[in-house]
Amino acid sequence: MVIIVESGADEETVENLIDKVASLGFTPHPIYGVEKTVIAVVGEKTQEKIDILETMPGVQQIIPILKPYKLVGREVRSEPSVIDITDAVSIGGDRFIVMAGPCAVESYEQFSTISQYVKNAGAQVLRGGIFKPRTSPHDFQGLREEGIPLVEAVKEEIGLPFITEVVDVRDIELLHDVADIYQVGARNMQNFALLTELGKVDRPVMLKRGMSATIEDLLQAAEYVVVEGNDDVILCERGIRTFETCTRNTLDISAVVALKRFSHLPVVVDPSHACGRDWMVPALAKAAVAAGADGLLIETHDRPQEAQVDGAQSLTPSTFDRMMQDLSAFVEAAGRTL
Ligand code: PEP
Ligand code: MN
Repeated sequence: MVIIVESGADEETVENLIDKVASLGFTPHPIYGVEKTVIAVVGEKTQEKIDILETMPGVQQIIPILKPYKLVGREVRSEPSVIDITDAVSIGGDRFIVMAGPCAVESYEQFSTISQYVKNAGAQVLRGGIFKPRTSPHDFQGLREEGIPLVEAVKEEIGLPFITEVVDVRDIELLHDVADIYQVGARNMQNFALLTELGKVDRPVMLKRGMSATIEDLLQAAEYVVVEGNDDVILCERGIRTFETCTRNTLDISAVVALKRFSHLPVVVDPSHACGRDWMVPALAKAAVAAGADGLLIETHDRPQEAQVDGAQSLTPSTFDRMMQDLSAFVEAAGRTL
């Protein structure tokens, strides 16, 4: 349930309410919005406890949340969440955010070259897998620990924040200083132990939709992170498995519209994994803007034919640059800036 706090209630009244909620055995999650303050209340409810809360000063209304996800839903926060990545970059606000880079960090030279050109083309966040979740154990698994210092060196040079996938709970600590955003991959969307631990870190988390997960599954997975106290979750639509074989997955563009309606969390689209083909990426990127996405995750490579992972879907420097130029009019038409 959520407690809608009376407008004009002072700080002390809100604090008393939060204490009361906790003393009744619930976990309170206060959300201080622009227009209203609400307290999301998690725990086993009884009519008696609801009656007590209803008599408390500052309570305007108590409403039940019928959806299986509570804290990530629009009921507790009607305006969109804006998540700060750094002082200069935030996601969910007026600026449309493009995160770009190679699928996997392969070497200092490769990551530095790609990072430089994606920055020049206007990307605001670098991406690159250090730990790769591969379908086959015989395939390249990423540079792993060895990749961290070289990414740190490139970040220092380029000056942009960095998103990277955390595949295992044991790597959260290891990646903490290099990752400005932790990425949870499609294969780990329902790794509840990982989600719970990421709920305790002071970094934003980007949660990718599992390839066979429903929109409601994704929102409930996000709830695992938020319920632990980390509100900074970004949702990512990256294509789902369908009968179609022309593309690697099928981009569910309607998921963007649905997620934006049902949740206050920012939504980004990864057209690269959705289609698996470089020539299709720019068109899907534009579709994502039109559907109301807050940003994109794009794979790029300076020599896609030699890429260790996902070369076929990686944009070259010139195609990435052209895509960014073409995108700006679409972003503007959507009321945003690139
Ligand atoms: C990735 O972003 O490199 C990746 C592995 O994506 P996904 O988890 O969506 O397959
Ligand atoms: Mn990839």
